[in-house]
Amino acid sequence: MDTSDLQNASKISRWIEEIEEAWAPLQREIEGVVEANQAKILSAYRKEHISDDHLQGSDGYGYDDAGREALGRVYAHAFGTEAAIVRPQFVSGTHAIAAALFGNLRPGDEIVYASGDPYETMKEVLGLVGDSPGNFREYDIQTRVLPLTPSGDVHLDRLPEVIHEKTKWVVIQRSKGYDERPSIPIQQLEQQIRSIKKRWPHVYVFIDNCYGEFVETIEPGHVGADLLAGSLIKNPGGGLAKTGGYIAGKESLVERAASRLSAPGIGLEAGATGSFLGEAFQGFFLAPMIVGEALKGAHFTAALLEKAGFQTNPAPFTSRTDLIQSVSFQDEEQMIFFCQNIQKYSPINAYVTPIPGPLPGYEGDVIMAAGTFIQGASIELSADGPVKPPYTAYVQGGLSFAHVKIAVIQALDTMMN
Ligand SMILES: *Cc1c(COP(=O)(O)O)cnc(C)c1O
Repeated sequence: MDTSDLQNASKISRWIEEIEEAWAPLQREIEGVVEANQAKILSAYRKEHISDDHLQGSDGYGYDDAGREALGRVYAHAFGTEAAIVRPQFVSGTHAIAAALFGNLRPGDEIVYASGDPYETMKEVLGLVGDSPGNFREYDIQTRVLPLTPSGDVHLDRLPEVIHEKTKWVVIQRSKGYDERPSIPIQQLEQQIRSIKKRWPHVYVFIDNCYGEFVETIEPGHVGADLLAGSLIKNPGGGLAKTGGYIAGKESLVERAASRLSAPGIGLEAGATGSFLGEAFQGFFLAPMIVGEALKGAHFTAALLEKAGFQTNPAPFTSRTDLIQSVSFQDEEQMIFFCQNIQKYSPINAYVTPIPGPLPGYEGDVIMAAGTFIQGASIELSADGPVKPPYTAYVQGGLSFAHVKIAVIQALDTMMN
């Protein structure tokens, strides 16, 4: 990349050169993951005889929508599960997770969240914060949260304290989200699921798979998870799906979730897909490559900003199981300035200057830079975070590595002046 027009050209080009020297093994590793996942998806499309008819979609009730059914089977293959439901009617990842759990819980049942504090929006669903109408607490479904061990593992020794006769589900959130803890790699998930199943064979394991899809070569369904869910405006939509979510898992559990999404008696059998199927099939096909681009972007962001003296988490060149990348700045001004410059180097709304403001569910002001094609799409490059110490911004996503590279270099250059 030509860096000669930068104001701090000599410093930044030296850092980029140093990063490029260490880049080859990482590039090979990421390409290996992309190829393995691409092969898996291609094989699913071939096996399911996906045809141009499957891309057309339906209206009205959406009965006999062969494309919708085939998309579910393709997801099930890719995620190592018996069945899957993939729909534009899921408004977000939170909705898909809520439907999956609501559909499979009854009054009096209990859930154990074994990966510590749940993702912000899930706290509302569970009734751990706020009193949103219809939350789990209103249905007499209780959640027990078990913090992770200091090293970020599920506290298997302490599970007997929280798993009771009434416990139906153990939930593990793969990605750390906005928490300060490591995300949980698939290999670790496998051990955790095995230990839980061995001691409590009747308890189901649910994985919040948001942001983790295709970062590794296997998914939670391949290592024994009963049910998992995620959002199509994150990894599996490949940047093309404009909305939607998925639930994958054991057939009987997916059916119960479908009863919750639509209505008992309707279940999986209806739900118009409109123009969704073309973008969902194409996006899922591209998803391994797009996730690879975002991963390269995350490593580059971490590497460059670390050289500039900032704390990054995860550190560059360390293995990943999700796309989360945080950077801690030295003060408020730096953080805001950096995020504003990420916006400035976005394809959409580049001329807009984001300013910190209040956001429901957050203490203090939050800055959000996201010049994305699809509103809130976390697979596209964004930079956001609460403007308070330690001034940590989440700088992640990206449909193209080249874009992430350009935006991060420019933002750093401007900030250094
Ligand atoms: C994104 C995300 C969710 C769901 O978020 P939505 O914004 O509702 O799609 C849940 N859990 C984790 C870990 C996430 O990253």
